[in-house]
Amino acid sequence: MAVRIYKIDPWKVIDEGWDPDKVMGSESIFSIGNGAMGQRANFEEDFSGKTLQGSYIAGIYYPDKTKVGWWKKGYPKYFAKVINAPNWIGISILINNIPLDLNKVDKVEKFERKLDMKNGLYERSISIVTNDNLKVEVSSKRFLSMRRKSIGAISYTIKCNRNIKISLSPYIDFDISNDDSNWGEKFWDIKEKTNTRDRSLVKCSVKKTGFNVTTYMKADLYDENIKLENPFKRKTTSKKIILKSEYLLKKNHTLKIEKFGGYITSNSNKWNNIEIATNEVLKILENNSFESLYQEHKQEWKKIWENSDIKINGDVKSQQAIRFNIYHLNQTYRGDDPKLNFGPKGFTGEKYGGSTYWDTEAYCIPFCLGTKPPEVTRNLLNYRHRQLGKAIENAEKLGFKNGAALFPMVTMNGEECHNEWEITFEEIHRNNAIAYAIFNYVRYTGNSEYLMVKGLEVLIGICRFWAQRVSYSEKKNKYVILGVTGPNEYENNINNNWYTNYSTKWCLEFTMNSIKNCRKNKPKSFEEISEKLKFKESELDLWLKISKNIYLNEDKELGIFIQQDGFFDKDLKEVDELGNSERPLNQNWSWDRILRSPYIKQADVLQGIYFFEDNFDIESIKNNYEFYQKFTVHESSLSPCVHSIIACKLGKTQSAYRLFKRASRLDLDDYNREVQEGLHITSMAGGWLAIVEGFAGMRVKNNTLHFTPSIPQGWEELIFSINFRQNIYKIKIRKELFECSLRFKKECYIYVNSKKLKFESKGKVSISI
Ligand code: BGC
Repeated sequence: MAVRIYKIDPWKVIDEGWDPDKVMGSESIFSIGNGAMGQRANFEEDFSGKTLQGSYIAGIYYPDKTKVGWWKKGYPKYFAKVINAPNWIGISILINNIPLDLNKVDKVEKFERKLDMKNGLYERSISIVTNDNLKVEVSSKRFLSMRRKSIGAISYTIKCNRNIKISLSPYIDFDISNDDSNWGEKFWDIKEKTNTRDRSLVKCSVKKTGFNVTTYMKADLYDENIKLENPFKRKTTSKKIILKSEYLLKKNHTLKIEKFGGYITSNSNKWNNIEIATNEVLKILENNSFESLYQEHKQEWKKIWENSDIKINGDVKSQQAIRFNIYHLNQTYRGDDPKLNFGPKGFTGEKYGGSTYWDTEAYCIPFCLGTKPPEVTRNLLNYRHRQLGKAIENAEKLGFKNGAALFPMVTMNGEECHNEWEITFEEIHRNNAIAYAIFNYVRYTGNSEYLMVKGLEVLIGICRFWAQRVSYSEKKNKYVILGVTGPNEYENNINNNWYTNYSTKWCLEFTMNSIKNCRKNKPKSFEEISEKLKFKESELDLWLKISKNIYLNEDKELGIFIQQDGFFDKDLKEVDELGNSERPLNQNWSWDRILRSPYIKQADVLQGIYFFEDNFDIESIKNNYEFYQKFTVHESSLSPCVHSIIACKLGKTQSAYRLFKRASRLDLDDYNREVQEGLHITSMAGGWLAIVEGFAGMRVKNNTLHFTPSIPQGWEELIFSINFRQNIYKIKIRKELFECSLRFKKECYIYVNSKKLKFESKGKVSISI
């Protein structure tokens, strides 16, 4: 159930009124990032209430030793954790010797936070009143530069209605630990602290992985905009590097502190270059102010929005939601570093450890294809290709051989690293999402260069895995896949999950076709791959046999595919019959009860219907949708968008709209009661998909864009851009009109409701719908 928490605005998220219980949720919602680092919206000043102090650096992780009750062979040795990094945003404040701490002040008269998504700015303004009528007004602005990966900036002002004595201490706190540490260990080794007139920084390295990180800060102080000369004394303790200023602030004067900080890491610079990089950053800061850095940061956001904004006229709630989704996706992953990927929670919390999941291939890649140049998706495909060796090792650890590859369900560097066996590890369907992403990239870009070399290597590794992972059932006279978890994580260790079996069949067929094409069009390339992988013809015979004889269970009477063996033995009571107090199930029911129930955490059969829709007739799509939606609880954020897209295809636009709202406002309205843990970043791509593939009905078929638009009631106009084959297609959809214009004029076609439309010299087409 949704809870309205924030004010509705097309470009902003606004939180008004002080409520200490909302702090942790809002810390997630108002998070900021720039692809290289990110942080929860913690307060700069001290806060003794409930909070999760969190600041994270892309690609910097700790391999935390796995914690299980009874060790079994094959368990991953560690669960990778994105590390909570030294906190550089802190500013301790004493006013007349009393700490400024919202949890302790006499009265919070005003409290407002704003996230300006257009410009990537997080703002807060508060006023507090003490029992003896001292009024203190504080405002702060903060951003992490989209132009300069290592720079974050804060502008923090204080004004009082009396002369006061104020002590201001900007600091770096390096005594930081992860909330989710398995063994209560700290992950950082502190190497060196420097706190001199020209630099305040701490050098740390990550235990075990050895990543080196320099965290720095710089601060300037202004009274009524006049910069104070050398205002700080310096202090270094075993936990903090501190700058301290004591000042007599006059009544109604504004004291402003501009604080800059961030991380310089060995992940993007070699250790001996960290010094040079640090000098460069400090030099940039010498020559810049909060305002000048903000102006260039704003320009970067302008460019991002130009290609990825979606405008919805007539429904501000949906407008706010989709921008919230696009904003967070862009600040999580920039696409320029093949070592990085999308973590399900981005930089907004510790759950899922910042690792890469199948979410990237299944959800984020379509978003990247549609809104970014193809290189971004290629980086994501290369990420997996670079990890192929590790995927082969992962499979070997389980007893597979001959180059069989099992890509990890959870990873930082290609090694499998998760905490749970039956739920996470057994989700071997992830291999097929990786194959699907290759197919999707080729279908979208028309470019098979990646497929013909790197892609084939990945696909062959995956098919080798399937060829060994299936079992032949004498009884069924079919190949079966036993002991898996499908996308629906509320069923573990099941047999013949339809989605896994079907996607395996598809994957084998796609690989065989790709090999055929490669042999025909790039024989030399195939010869090289073949030799490198010691590929044998007999492998193809086996793959063909498996793909033709894989077990796909269906109920002919109902016209549906059966989620897994035994599904119909369950007590098939529909979700609507459950009481509200029982939902979400994962917070109210025992695991035992969940596993026995028919309730589906997230699209499972329907995930397959969504991926491979062209292989099914509309009747079958309808039957499966109508049956499975009755049992789906959508307790994974990845679920409602898939249902929404299928509902659109079936002409159920208003149901699709309800599901879209759930997908896109999941965190804003805290549907799953867990926003305090962080945001569901990867599923935000689902919000985008629900509009583009759902309401606009966009598909790529035979190298051309196709649309079947049907927008929800109340939407006056839907406008978005699609990056397709070196052109930008700007789409405008109204109730009865579809319009498309090209940024670069070119002779080409699109299809709207199956009607072919040719772009004439104006580069624009329109049609009544
Ligand atoms: C979902 C998985 C997903 C993971 C990370 C889980 O709740 O069931 O499908 O990969 O979250 O987003």
